Amino acid sequence: MSIEIISLIYGLMEDISPRCSIMECKSFTTLPNMETGLHERDRAGVQDFVLLENYQSDEAFIENLKKRFKEDLIYTYIGQVLISVNPYKQLPIYSDAHVKAYRNKHFYEMPPHVFAVTDNAFRSLIEENRGQCVLISGESGSGKTEASKKVLQFIAACSGNQTTVEGVKDKLLKSNPVLEAFGNAKTNRNDNSSRFGKYMDIQFDFKGAPVGGNILNYLLEKSRVVAQMGGERNFHIFYQLLAGADETLLQELRLERALDRYSYLTDGLNGSVTSINDAESFKQVQQALSVIDFSKEEQRDIFGIVASILHLGNIGFNEVEGNAKVKSRDLVVTAARLLGVNASELEAALTHRTIDARGDVVTSPLNQELAIYARDALSKAVYDRLFSWLVQRLNISLQAKEVRGGRNNVMGILDIYGFEIFQKNSLEQFCINFCNEKLQQLFIELTLKSEQDEYRREGIEWIPVEYFDNKVICNLIEEKHKGIISILDEECLRPGEPSDKTFLEKLTQKLSLHHHYVCHEKAPAHIKKIMLRDEFRLVHYAGEVTYSVNGFLDKNNDLLFRDLKETLSKAGNGIVRSCFPEKELRSLKRPETAITQFRASLNNLMDILMCKEPSYIRCIKPNDLQTATIFNDELVLHQVKYLGLMENLRVRRAGFAYRRTYDLFLERYKPLSKSTWPNYKGPGGSKAGVQQLVKDLGWDEEKFRVGETKLFIRWPRTLFDTEDAYQAK
Ligand code: ADP
Ligand code: MG
Repeated sequence: MSIEIISLIYGLMEDISPRCSIMECKSFTTLPNMETGLHERDRAGVQDFVLLENYQSDEAFIENLKKRFKEDLIYTYIGQVLISVNPYKQLPIYSDAHVKAYRNKHFYEMPPHVFAVTDNAFRSLIEENRGQCVLISGESGSGKTEASKKVLQFIAACSGNQTTVEGVKDKLLKSNPVLEAFGNAKTNRNDNSSRFGKYMDIQFDFKGAPVGGNILNYLLEKSRVVAQMGGERNFHIFYQLLAGADETLLQELRLERALDRYSYLTDGLNGSVTSINDAESFKQVQQALSVIDFSKEEQRDIFGIVASILHLGNIGFNEVEGNAKVKSRDLVVTAARLLGVNASELEAALTHRTIDARGDVVTSPLNQELAIYARDALSKAVYDRLFSWLVQRLNISLQAKEVRGGRNNVMGILDIYGFEIFQKNSLEQFCINFCNEKLQQLFIELTLKSEQDEYRREGIEWIPVEYFDNKVICNLIEEKHKGIISILDEECLRPGEPSDKTFLEKLTQKLSLHHHYVCHEKAPAHIKKIMLRDEFRLVHYAGEVTYSVNGFLDKNNDLLFRDLKETLSKAGNGIVRSCFPEKELRSLKRPETAITQFRASLNNLMDILMCKEPSYIRCIKPNDLQTATIFNDELVLHQVKYLGLMENLRVRRAGFAYRRTYDLFLERYKPLSKSTWPNYKGPGGSKAGVQQLVKDLGWDEEKFRVGETKLFIRWPRTLFDTEDAYQAK
């Protein structure tokens, strides 16, 4: 064979068979690097589940993950999907040498890694000009946020290094500690749990250098500001400020270091967490804020707000003849000073409520309970809006000066809360789980369904793989007029005396026949036993969750009394003032309910993701104890099931890993046969040409399919007789 033909065959193998063992040998034997262990072969299990012999068996699946976990091989593929098991310890696999080793390599040439997925997406973006998104999913503590940071690390490390770009990269990287300080907290599942959803777009110029970014934030768990569960903490920034601020700043903010002085911090956990160094983190946050060009004044305003919330939390009330009275005026004065509002006005706003009913303005005093409610609503609203302000402010700083690469040159990274089942589940969990239903729906649309649709379209005989389509649950939740969201909003907006109870009655009235809705009355006996009368239960794709309707209406209305809004709209603290614009007060339109806003932002996200090429990282938590040594089979199996990984594997196994249109295939590979070189002249066009070509090459008919417009190859490497070598590894 001539050299050209040989190189073409290699070309073919490279193109369609990145997994072939020749390439592995090339990379593993010619570039051994014992120091980094980079090219050490995987020592255990298969690195792509597609190669698993017993691929239908749950046990075999778990066994493979476990074997690899024990060997610190935390990454495994299902085709292009990356599975990542949280190692709960630092592994030496993210060094600059690793970045280099994964840069510009074929996907399967190296052991599975988050860098390989990123490199693949990055190249697709640069070479094919296709917008990308990396979708990271998994439950709390499974390693999503860490994975998203690795994606960012890789991109930053392997894209241009002109000074202008360095600035952008630095800002992108520094936005993380800021967002984590304000949006993360210690929970019982994760010492650094993200309590908000995040989607970050990175924009590149035509050379592949990052020129800007944009962050979208979703639903911060603001209830945490005023109360935490046992063993949990408030958002990191409160502790960071108290531990890390110098004496002058503390003085200025009238704060003391002792955590137990603050009622908003003493709910869950007293004291510090071993894995967290608050003082050190505070330094990082301050440094990050400077890199992102926050002015001194902005920084002062930010910490002023954080401090004011601590003071607000300490304001207590007495009740005199049904009217709330502030216990200690000093605290009001301090909080007012930090927010830049008039103290008497704040005091009045905390203890009164003005209702403007079509021009009739009536002010009435609040009782103690309502005053506490108003105070907490104020703290939550101020913190929540501060967080959104921070994101907006980061975006201004990240904005690309001039994008020359076109709008497609965008890579998105989605790191959003995983499915949650707690002891008590409320509207927050409902929103989070709804979000996960939508993402699962997207996964189905983009992978399982689209894959099978293509086979059908191409007329390729195909035994459909059964999978559960969760659209029915999405509809149950969001369908107009009929879904749970509509029913909740209707109840919130209707006159009369709507309550959580009447909401639950309506739900049951309208949905009790739905297969995925379980009400107390109709629950099977063993469920009824564990359900309360104020609860309903949804059969989510990832498991059954019982929701308590307590507080649903309140949280959905998300009411901040007008008096407080008015006070804040005049604040001297610039951030507070811009967060509570006066025009909001003047608007006659009822503000949208919390869940309607959330649904709109989710649907917007789906639109963004739908038009991008997705890469999937599915994160798995090996145990509930945040330890490196335990692999809990049962816990992992549950995650594997609801992430749909078994279905994913079955579709992948049944399918064809490689496909190309006949024109493209023939154009590239026609030199491999006399009958197609230099051109195929027979009847039937390129389709017939390709058929002739594969016949000449002697390919086994089992290994490919001839579709309407494309050639499908099941396992490219088997055509070159290398699978055995691959599996023998
Ligand atoms: P999630 O965002 O899914 O809730 P995180 O990404 O915050 O979870 O991970 C939780 C913790 O697990 C991290 O704080 C870290 O200690 C550990 N962890 C996660 N991924 C890795 C990794 N790749 N290497 C080392 N530790 C990790
Ligand atoms: Mg996270």
